[in-house]
Amino acid sequence: MSVKITKNEALDYHKFPNPGKISIATTTKLESQRDLSLAYSPGVAYPCEEIALNPELAFEYTSKRNLVAVISNGTAVLGLGNIGAIASKPVMEGKAVLFKKFAAVDSFDIEVDETNVDKFCEIVKAISPTFGGINLEDIKSPECFEIEKRLVEELEIPVMHDDQHGTAIITSAALLNASEMMNKKIEDMKVVVVGAGASAIACSTMYKELGVKNLIMCDSKGVIHTGRTDLNKYKLDFVSNTITSLEDAFKDADMVLGLSKPGTFTVEHIALMAEEPIVFTLANPTPELFPEEIKSVRPKAIIGTGRSDFPNQVNNVLGFPFIFRGALDVQARKINMHMKKAAAIAIASLAKEPLTADLKASFGDLSYGKEYIIPIPFDKRLMIEVSAAVALGAIETGVAKVKEFDLEKYKEKLRT
Ligand code: NAP
Ligand code: MG
Repeated sequence: MSVKITKNEALDYHKFPNPGKISIATTTKLESQRDLSLAYSPGVAYPCEEIALNPELAFEYTSKRNLVAVISNGTAVLGLGNIGAIASKPVMEGKAVLFKKFAAVDSFDIEVDETNVDKFCEIVKAISPTFGGINLEDIKSPECFEIEKRLVEELEIPVMHDDQHGTAIITSAALLNASEMMNKKIEDMKVVVVGAGASAIACSTMYKELGVKNLIMCDSKGVIHTGRTDLNKYKLDFVSNTITSLEDAFKDADMVLGLSKPGTFTVEHIALMAEEPIVFTLANPTPELFPEEIKSVRPKAIIGTGRSDFPNQVNNVLGFPFIFRGALDVQARKINMHMKKAAAIAIASLAKEPLTADLKASFGDLSYGKEYIIPIPFDKRLMIEVSAAVALGAIETGVAKVKEFDLEKYKEKLRT
Protein backbone atom coordinates (compact mmCIF):
# COMPACT_ATOMS: atom_id res chain seq x y z
CA MET A 1 0.00 0.00 0.00
CA SER A 2 3.10 2.20 0.19
CA VAL A 3 2.97 5.10 -2.26
CA LYS A 4 5.82 7.57 -2.58
CA ILE A 5 5.08 11.12 -3.72
CA THR A 6 7.28 14.17 -4.25
CA LYS A 7 6.71 17.76 -3.16
CA ASN A 8 6.38 18.88 -6.78
CA GLU A 9 3.78 16.26 -7.53
CA ALA A 10 1.77 17.42 -4.52
CA LEU A 11 2.03 21.09 -5.47
CA ASP A 12 1.04 20.35 -9.08
CA TYR A 13 -1.91 18.28 -7.86
CA HIS A 14 -3.15 21.37 -6.04
CA LYS A 15 -2.44 23.80 -8.87
CA PHE A 16 -3.81 21.94 -11.92
CA PRO A 17 -6.14 21.77 -13.79
CA ASN A 18 -7.53 24.63 -11.66
CA PRO A 19 -6.16 25.98 -8.39
CA GLY A 20 -7.54 24.05 -5.40
CA LYS A 21 -9.47 20.80 -5.15
CA ILE A 22 -13.17 21.63 -5.11
CA SER A 23 -15.77 23.55 -7.09
CA ILE A 24 -19.53 23.99 -6.92
CA ALA A 25 -21.91 22.00 -9.12
CA THR A 26 -25.55 22.91 -9.76
CA THR A 27 -28.29 20.35 -9.33
CA THR A 28 -31.24 21.89 -11.15
CA LYS A 29 -31.86 22.74 -14.80
CA LEU A 30 -31.28 26.33 -15.89
CA GLU A 31 -31.72 26.55 -19.65
CA SER A 32 -34.78 28.68 -20.36
CA GLN A 33 -36.33 31.95 -19.27
CA ARG A 34 -38.84 29.87 -17.32
CA ASP A 35 -36.08 28.01 -15.45
CA LEU A 36 -34.54 31.38 -14.64
CA SER A 37 -37.84 32.60 -13.21
CA LEU A 38 -38.09 29.48 -11.06
CA ALA A 39 -34.48 29.40 -9.85
CA TYR A 40 -34.26 33.07 -9.10
CA SER A 41 -36.65 35.97 -8.90
CA PRO A 42 -39.62 35.77 -8.81
CA GLY A 43 -39.90 32.00 -8.13
CA VAL A 44 -37.26 31.88 -5.43
CA ALA A 45 -39.42 34.11 -3.22
CA TYR A 46 -41.87 31.23 -2.57
CA PRO A 47 -39.42 28.93 -0.74
CA CYS A 48 -38.05 32.00 1.08
CA GLU A 49 -41.53 32.78 2.40
CA GLU A 50 -42.16 29.16 3.35
CA ILE A 51 -38.86 28.98 5.26
CA ALA A 52 -39.54 32.33 6.94
CA LEU A 53 -42.76 30.81 8.32
CA ASN A 54 -41.12 27.49 9.22
CA PRO A 55 -37.30 27.37 9.32
CA GLU A 56 -37.38 23.54 9.28
CA LEU A 57 -38.44 23.77 5.63
CA ALA A 58 -34.86 24.81 4.79
CA PHE A 59 -34.22 21.06 4.90
CA GLU A 60 -36.77 20.63 2.08
CA TYR A 61 -36.05 23.60 -0.16
CA THR A 62 -32.29 24.22 0.16
CA SER A 63 -29.06 22.26 0.13
CA LYS A 64 -28.84 22.49 3.92
CA ARG A 65 -29.73 18.87 4.58
CA ASN A 66 -26.66 17.52 2.78
CA LEU A 67 -24.24 20.36 3.50
CA VAL A 68 -21.47 20.27 6.10
CA ALA A 69 -19.12 23.12 7.02
CA VAL A 70 -15.49 22.11 7.51
CA ILE A 71 -14.31 24.85 9.84
CA SER A 72 -10.83 25.58 11.14
CA ASN A 73 -8.90 28.51 12.55
CA GLY A 74 -5.62 26.90 11.54
CA THR A 75 -4.22 26.62 15.07
CA ALA A 76 -3.29 22.90 14.99
CA VAL A 77 -2.99 21.81 11.38
CA LEU A 78 -1.89 18.21 10.78
CA GLY A 79 1.46 17.96 12.57
CA LEU A 80 2.37 21.44 11.27
CA GLY A 81 1.09 23.35 14.30
CA ASN A 82 -0.36 26.85 14.33
CA ILE A 83 0.11 27.86 10.69
CA GLY A 84 -2.92 30.15 10.53
CA ALA A 85 -6.31 30.10 8.85
CA ILE A 86 -5.35 30.59 5.20
CA ALA A 87 -2.52 28.04 5.32
CA SER A 88 -5.01 25.45 6.58
CA LYS A 89 -7.17 25.80 3.46
CA PRO A 90 -5.62 22.92 1.48
CA VAL A 91 -6.39 20.56 4.38
CA MET A 92 -9.97 21.79 4.72
CA GLU A 93 -10.53 21.55 0.94
CA GLY A 94 -9.11 18.05 1.15
CA LYS A 95 -11.59 17.19 3.85
CA ALA A 96 -14.38 18.48 1.61
CA VAL A 97 -13.16 16.21 -1.19
CA LEU A 98 -13.19 13.19 1.13
CA PHE A 99 -16.71 14.01 2.33
CA LYS A 100 -17.92 14.10 -1.25
CA LYS A 101 -16.01 11.14 -2.66
CA PHE A 102 -16.54 8.74 0.22
CA ALA A 103 -20.06 9.62 1.36
CA ALA A 104 -21.64 12.05 -1.17
CA VAL A 105 -21.78 14.74 1.52
CA ASP A 106 -21.43 18.28 0.17
CA SER A 107 -19.24 20.63 2.15
CA PHE A 108 -17.73 24.09 2.19
CA ASP A 109 -14.33 24.64 3.74
CA ILE A 110 -14.36 27.71 5.97
CA GLU A 111 -11.14 29.15 7.34
CA VAL A 112 -11.82 31.57 10.18
CA ASP A 113 -9.08 33.99 11.18
CA GLU A 114 -10.02 34.07 14.87
CA THR A 115 -8.39 32.39 17.87
CA ASN A 116 -10.50 33.90 20.67
CA VAL A 117 -12.91 31.18 21.86
CA ASP A 118 -15.91 33.49 22.39
CA LYS A 119 -15.52 35.21 19.05
CA PHE A 120 -14.87 31.98 17.19
CA CYS A 121 -18.04 30.43 18.62
CA GLU A 122 -20.03 33.53 17.72
CA ILE A 123 -18.82 33.37 14.13
CA VAL A 124 -19.64 29.68 13.75
CA LYS A 125 -23.07 30.18 15.30
CA ALA A 126 -23.77 33.10 13.02
CA ILE A 127 -23.06 31.12 9.84
CA SER A 128 -24.66 27.88 11.08
CA PRO A 129 -28.08 28.42 9.37
CA THR A 130 -26.42 27.52 6.06
CA PHE A 131 -25.46 24.03 7.16
CA GLY A 132 -26.87 20.66 8.16
CA GLY A 133 -23.74 19.83 10.16
CA ILE A 134 -20.43 21.25 11.33
CA ASN A 135 -17.09 19.44 11.23
CA LEU A 136 -14.60 21.35 13.37
CA GLU A 137 -11.04 20.67 12.29
CA ASP A 138 -7.47 21.30 13.37
CA ILE A 139 -8.23 23.59 16.29
CA LYS A 140 -5.67 23.49 19.08
CA SER A 141 -6.29 22.02 22.51
CA PRO A 142 -7.45 22.84 25.11
CA GLU A 143 -9.52 25.55 23.30
CA CYS A 144 -11.02 22.89 21.01
CA PHE A 145 -12.83 21.29 23.96
CA GLU A 146 -14.59 24.48 25.04
CA ILE A 147 -15.43 25.46 21.46
CA GLU A 148 -16.98 22.10 20.66
CA LYS A 149 -18.88 21.88 23.95
CA ARG A 150 -20.46 25.28 23.48
CA LEU A 151 -21.42 24.74 19.85
CA VAL A 152 -22.88 21.31 20.60
CA GLU A 153 -24.99 22.84 23.36
CA GLU A 154 -26.11 25.87 21.43
CA LEU A 155 -26.75 24.53 17.94
CA GLU A 156 -29.49 22.17 16.76
CA ILE A 157 -27.34 20.55 14.07
CA PRO A 158 -24.60 17.96 14.65
CA VAL A 159 -21.21 19.45 15.53
CA MET A 160 -18.14 17.23 15.75
CA HIS A 161 -14.46 18.01 16.16
CA ASP A 162 -13.02 15.23 14.02
CA ASP A 163 -9.49 15.32 15.47
CA GLN A 164 -11.10 14.32 18.76
CA HIS A 165 -14.00 12.02 18.00
CA GLY A 166 -13.04 10.69 14.58
CA THR A 167 -9.80 9.47 16.12
CA ALA A 168 -11.62 8.13 19.19
CA ILE A 169 -14.06 6.15 17.03
CA ILE A 170 -11.40 4.56 14.79
CA THR A 171 -9.04 3.72 17.65
CA SER A 172 -12.01 2.28 19.55
CA ALA A 173 -12.77 0.01 16.60
CA ALA A 174 -9.10 -1.00 16.63
CA LEU A 175 -9.19 -1.60 20.39
CA LEU A 176 -12.33 -3.76 20.13
CA ASN A 177 -10.79 -6.03 17.49
CA ALA A 178 -7.24 -6.10 18.87
CA SER A 179 -8.38 -6.96 22.40
CA GLU A 180 -10.62 -9.73 21.10
CA MET A 181 -7.82 -11.12 18.94
CA MET A 182 -5.42 -11.13 21.91
CA ASN A 183 -8.05 -12.62 24.26
CA LYS A 184 -7.81 -9.60 26.54
CA LYS A 185 -10.89 -8.45 28.43
CA ILE A 186 -11.17 -4.69 28.07
CA GLU A 187 -12.11 -4.30 31.74
CA ASP A 188 -8.90 -6.02 32.81
CA MET A 189 -6.53 -4.24 30.44
CA LYS A 190 -3.86 -1.81 31.55
CA VAL A 191 -3.82 0.95 28.94
CA VAL A 192 -1.21 3.70 28.68
CA VAL A 193 -2.10 6.81 26.68
CA VAL A 194 0.90 8.94 25.75
CA GLY A 195 -0.38 12.41 24.90
CA ALA A 196 -3.08 14.46 26.63
CA GLY A 197 -4.24 16.71 23.82
CA ALA A 198 -7.29 16.85 21.57
CA SER A 199 -7.17 13.28 20.32
CA ALA A 200 -5.82 11.62 23.49
CA ILE A 201 -8.49 13.09 25.78
CA ALA A 202 -11.30 12.07 23.40
CA CYS A 203 -9.89 8.57 22.87
CA SER A 204 -9.45 8.04 26.62
CA THR A 205 -13.00 9.24 27.31
CA MET A 206 -14.35 6.77 24.78
CA TYR A 207 -12.11 3.94 26.01
CA LYS A 208 -13.61 4.38 29.47
CA GLU A 209 -17.08 4.15 27.89
CA LEU A 210 -16.00 0.87 26.29
CA GLY A 211 -15.03 -0.49 29.68
CA VAL A 212 -11.35 0.39 30.19
CA LYS A 213 -10.83 0.86 33.92
CA ASN A 214 -7.06 1.02 34.28
CA LEU A 215 -5.91 3.94 32.09
CA ILE A 216 -2.75 5.94 32.69
CA MET A 217 -2.28 9.15 30.75
CA CYS A 218 0.98 11.01 30.13
CA ASP A 219 1.72 14.48 28.81
CA SER A 220 4.94 16.36 28.11
CA LYS A 221 5.71 16.52 31.86
CA GLY A 222 5.25 12.77 32.39
CA VAL A 223 2.50 10.70 34.00
CA ILE A 224 -0.64 12.60 34.98
CA HIS A 225 -0.99 11.82 38.69
CA THR A 226 -2.56 13.22 41.82
CA GLY A 227 0.64 15.01 42.83
CA ARG A 228 0.58 17.28 39.76
CA THR A 229 -0.58 20.87 40.25
CA ASP A 230 -0.24 21.99 36.62
CA LEU A 231 -3.17 20.11 35.05
CA ASN A 232 -6.01 21.62 33.02
CA LYS A 233 -9.53 20.42 33.84
CA TYR A 234 -9.59 17.97 30.94
CA LYS A 235 -6.48 16.17 32.17
CA LEU A 236 -7.89 16.08 35.71
CA ASP A 237 -10.35 13.39 34.59
CA PHE A 238 -7.43 11.02 34.07
CA VAL A 239 -5.16 11.40 37.10
CA SER A 240 -3.52 8.25 38.41
CA ASN A 241 -3.55 7.66 42.15
CA THR A 242 -0.74 5.16 42.13
CA ILE A 243 1.58 5.58 39.17
CA THR A 244 4.00 8.47 38.74
CA SER A 245 6.73 7.24 36.37
CA LEU A 246 6.64 6.24 32.71
CA GLU A 247 8.40 2.98 33.59
CA ASP A 248 5.68 2.02 36.08
CA ALA A 249 3.03 3.02 33.55
CA PHE A 250 4.45 0.69 30.90
CA LYS A 251 5.15 -2.20 33.31
CA ASP A 252 2.95 -5.16 32.18
CA ALA A 253 0.71 -2.77 30.20
CA ASP A 254 -1.54 -4.48 27.66
CA MET A 255 -1.79 -1.50 25.37
CA VAL A 256 -0.17 1.82 24.58
CA LEU A 257 -1.84 4.51 22.50
CA GLY A 258 0.62 7.15 21.31
CA LEU A 259 -0.94 10.48 20.34
CA SER A 260 2.01 12.75 21.01
CA LYS A 261 5.14 13.08 18.85
CA PRO A 262 8.13 10.97 17.78
CA GLY A 263 10.39 9.64 20.52
CA THR A 264 8.14 10.21 23.56
CA PHE A 265 8.73 6.57 24.58
CA THR A 266 11.31 4.02 23.53
CA VAL A 267 11.76 0.32 22.79
CA GLU A 268 12.90 -0.04 26.40
CA HIS A 269 9.41 1.03 27.47
CA ILE A 270 7.82 -1.45 25.04
CA ALA A 271 10.05 -4.16 26.51
CA LEU A 272 8.35 -3.58 29.88
CA MET A 273 4.90 -4.35 28.43
CA ALA A 274 2.94 -7.62 28.42
CA GLU A 275 4.19 -10.34 26.04
CA GLU A 276 1.56 -9.72 23.35
CA PRO A 277 0.77 -6.03 23.62
CA ILE A 278 -1.32 -3.72 21.47
CA VAL A 279 0.81 -0.78 20.34
CA PHE A 280 -0.66 2.14 18.41
CA THR A 281 1.89 4.84 17.61
CA LEU A 282 -0.20 7.45 15.87
CA ALA A 283 1.94 10.61 15.85
CA ASN A 284 1.89 11.85 12.25
CA PRO A 285 3.74 11.76 9.97
CA THR A 286 6.51 10.21 12.12
CA PRO A 287 5.16 7.79 14.72
CA GLU A 288 6.39 7.65 18.33
CA LEU A 289 8.08 4.37 17.34
CA PHE A 290 8.19 2.53 14.00
CA PRO A 291 6.69 -0.98 13.69
CA GLU A 292 10.10 -2.64 13.20
CA GLU A 293 11.36 -1.07 16.45
CA ILE A 294 8.33 -2.36 18.34
CA LYS A 295 8.69 -5.82 16.79
CA SER A 296 12.36 -5.99 17.81
CA VAL A 297 11.25 -6.42 21.44
CA ARG A 298 7.63 -7.59 21.09
CA PRO A 299 7.38 -9.67 17.88
CA LYS A 300 3.80 -10.75 18.66
CA ALA A 301 2.46 -7.22 19.15
CA ILE A 302 -0.54 -5.88 17.24
CA ILE A 303 0.71 -2.60 15.80
CA GLY A 304 -1.12 0.34 14.27
CA THR A 305 0.15 3.69 12.98
CA GLY A 306 -1.36 6.72 11.26
CA ARG A 307 0.45 5.92 8.01
CA SER A 308 -0.64 4.20 4.84
CA ASP A 309 2.73 2.47 4.33
CA PHE A 310 2.27 0.13 7.32
CA PRO A 311 -0.56 -2.28 8.19
CA ASN A 312 -3.47 -1.09 10.35
CA GLN A 313 -3.61 2.55 9.36
CA VAL A 314 -5.75 4.50 11.81
CA ASN A 315 -7.21 6.90 9.28
CA ASN A 316 -10.07 9.21 10.23
CA VAL A 317 -11.54 8.90 6.75
CA LEU A 318 -12.89 5.53 7.95
CA GLY A 319 -15.24 7.53 10.12
CA PHE A 320 -16.18 11.15 9.57
CA PRO A 321 -17.77 10.94 6.08
CA PHE A 322 -20.11 8.16 7.21
CA ILE A 323 -20.78 9.58 10.66
CA PHE A 324 -22.06 12.78 9.06
CA ARG A 325 -23.85 10.81 6.29
CA GLY A 326 -25.88 8.94 8.92
CA ALA A 327 -26.43 12.01 11.11
CA LEU A 328 -27.59 14.18 8.17
CA ASP A 329 -29.94 11.53 6.82
CA VAL A 330 -31.97 11.39 10.04
CA GLN A 331 -31.42 15.09 10.80
CA ALA A 332 -29.72 14.30 14.06
CA ARG A 333 -29.40 17.24 16.45
CA LYS A 334 -26.27 15.76 18.04
CA ILE A 335 -23.63 13.12 17.53
CA ASN A 336 -23.75 11.47 20.94
CA MET A 337 -21.67 8.72 22.57
CA HIS A 338 -24.20 6.04 21.63
CA MET A 339 -23.83 6.99 17.96
CA LYS A 340 -20.04 7.08 18.25
CA LYS A 341 -19.97 3.62 19.83
CA ALA A 342 -22.29 2.33 17.12
CA ALA A 343 -19.88 3.69 14.50
CA ALA A 344 -16.89 2.05 16.21
CA ILE A 345 -18.66 -1.31 16.40
CA ALA A 346 -19.71 -1.10 12.74
CA ILE A 347 -16.13 -0.34 11.66
CA ALA A 348 -14.76 -3.16 13.82
CA SER A 349 -17.33 -5.63 12.46
CA LEU A 350 -16.57 -4.80 8.84
CA ALA A 351 -12.90 -5.79 9.29
CA LYS A 352 -14.12 -9.33 9.99
CA GLU A 353 -15.90 -9.60 6.64
CA PRO A 354 -13.97 -11.03 3.68
CA LEU A 355 -12.66 -8.43 1.24
CA THR A 356 -14.76 -7.80 -1.86
CA ALA A 357 -13.27 -8.77 -5.23
CA ASP A 358 -12.49 -5.18 -6.23
CA LEU A 359 -10.66 -4.55 -2.94
CA LYS A 360 -8.69 -7.78 -3.34
CA ALA A 361 -7.64 -6.68 -6.82
CA SER A 362 -6.24 -3.41 -5.44
CA PHE A 363 -5.01 -4.36 -1.98
CA GLY A 364 -4.19 -8.07 -2.17
CA ASP A 365 -5.60 -10.88 -0.13
CA LEU A 366 -5.98 -9.20 3.26
CA SER A 367 -7.96 -11.03 5.88
CA TYR A 368 -8.90 -10.35 9.50
CA GLY A 369 -5.80 -10.81 11.64
CA LYS A 370 -2.98 -8.93 13.37
CA GLU A 371 -2.08 -7.04 10.22
CA TYR A 372 -5.68 -6.24 9.33
CA ILE A 373 -7.76 -5.18 12.32
CA ILE A 374 -9.57 -2.24 10.72
CA PRO A 375 -11.00 -1.87 7.21
CA ILE A 376 -9.36 0.08 4.42
CA PRO A 377 -10.89 3.46 3.51
CA PHE A 378 -11.85 2.33 -0.01
CA ASP A 379 -14.17 -0.36 1.33
CA LYS A 380 -17.53 0.79 -0.08
CA ARG A 381 -19.40 -1.13 2.62
CA LEU A 382 -18.24 1.47 5.18
CA MET A 383 -20.79 3.93 3.86
CA ILE A 384 -23.60 1.43 4.29
CA GLU A 385 -22.65 -0.10 7.63
CA VAL A 386 -21.27 2.94 9.47
CA SER A 387 -23.85 5.46 8.23
CA ALA A 388 -26.68 3.06 9.05
CA ALA A 389 -25.31 2.37 12.54
CA VAL A 390 -25.01 6.09 13.25
CA ALA A 391 -28.48 6.87 11.89
CA LEU A 392 -30.02 4.06 13.92
CA GLY A 393 -28.11 5.26 17.00
CA ALA A 394 -29.63 8.73 16.57
CA ILE A 395 -33.13 7.26 16.27
CA GLU A 396 -32.61 5.04 19.34
CA THR A 397 -31.44 7.94 21.49
CA GLY A 398 -34.16 10.34 20.34
CA VAL A 399 -31.85 12.95 18.79
CA ALA A 400 -33.15 12.43 15.23
CA LYS A 401 -35.71 14.84 13.84
CA VAL A 402 -36.74 12.27 11.25
CA LYS A 403 -39.22 9.92 12.89
CA GLU A 404 -39.93 7.39 10.12
CA PHE A 405 -36.91 5.12 9.84
CA ASP A 406 -36.53 1.65 8.39
CA LEU A 407 -32.99 0.34 8.77
CA GLU A 408 -33.10 -2.12 5.88
CA LYS A 409 -34.69 0.40 3.51
CA TYR A 410 -32.08 2.96 4.50
CA LYS A 411 -29.24 0.51 3.86
CA GLU A 412 -30.76 -0.32 0.48
CA LYS A 413 -30.88 3.38 -0.36
CA LEU A 414 -27.22 3.75 0.57
CA ARG A 415 -26.32 0.77 -1.60
CA THR A 416 -27.80 2.40 -4.66
P1 NAP B 1 -2.25 17.98 20.65
O1 NAP B 1 -3.61 18.39 21.07
O2 NAP B 1 -1.25 19.02 20.33
O3 NAP B 1 -1.64 17.05 21.79
C1 NAP B 1 -0.33 16.63 21.81
C2 NAP B 1 -0.07 16.05 23.18
O4 NAP B 1 1.24 15.44 23.18
C3 NAP B 1 -0.06 17.10 24.31
O5 NAP B 1 -0.91 16.68 25.35
C4 NAP B 1 1.39 17.12 24.76
O6 NAP B 1 1.56 17.35 26.14
C5 NAP B 1 1.78 15.68 24.44
N1 NAP B 1 3.23 15.50 24.47
C6 NAP B 1 4.21 16.29 23.97
N2 NAP B 1 5.41 15.80 24.30
C7 NAP B 1 5.19 14.71 25.03
C8 NAP B 1 6.03 13.79 25.70
N3 NAP B 1 7.35 13.89 25.66
N4 NAP B 1 5.46 12.76 26.37
C9 NAP B 1 4.13 12.63 26.44
N5 NAP B 1 3.28 13.48 25.83
C10 NAP B 1 3.81 14.50 25.15
O7 NAP B 1 -2.29 17.04 19.37
P2 NAP B 1 -3.37 15.96 18.87
O8 NAP B 1 -4.26 16.61 17.88
O9 NAP B 1 -3.96 15.26 20.01
O10 NAP B 1 -2.42 14.99 18.03
C11 NAP B 1 -1.31 14.36 18.61
C12 NAP B 1 -0.58 13.53 17.56
O11 NAP B 1 -1.39 12.46 17.13
C13 NAP B 1 -0.21 14.30 16.29
O12 NAP B 1 1.02 13.84 15.81
C14 NAP B 1 -1.30 13.93 15.34
O13 NAP B 1 -0.90 14.03 14.00
C15 NAP B 1 -1.55 12.50 15.74
N6 NAP B 1 -2.92 12.05 15.40
C16 NAP B 1 -3.07 10.98 14.57
C17 NAP B 1 -4.32 10.54 14.22
C18 NAP B 1 -4.47 9.36 13.31
O14 NAP B 1 -3.52 8.69 13.02
N7 NAP B 1 -5.64 9.06 12.84
C19 NAP B 1 -5.44 11.20 14.70
C20 NAP B 1 -5.28 12.30 15.57
C21 NAP B 1 -4.00 12.69 15.92
P3 NAP B 1 1.16 18.73 26.87
O15 NAP B 1 -0.33 18.62 27.09
O16 NAP B 1 1.94 18.68 28.14
O17 NAP B 1 1.55 19.82 25.95
MG1 MG C 1 -7.29 17.11 11.57
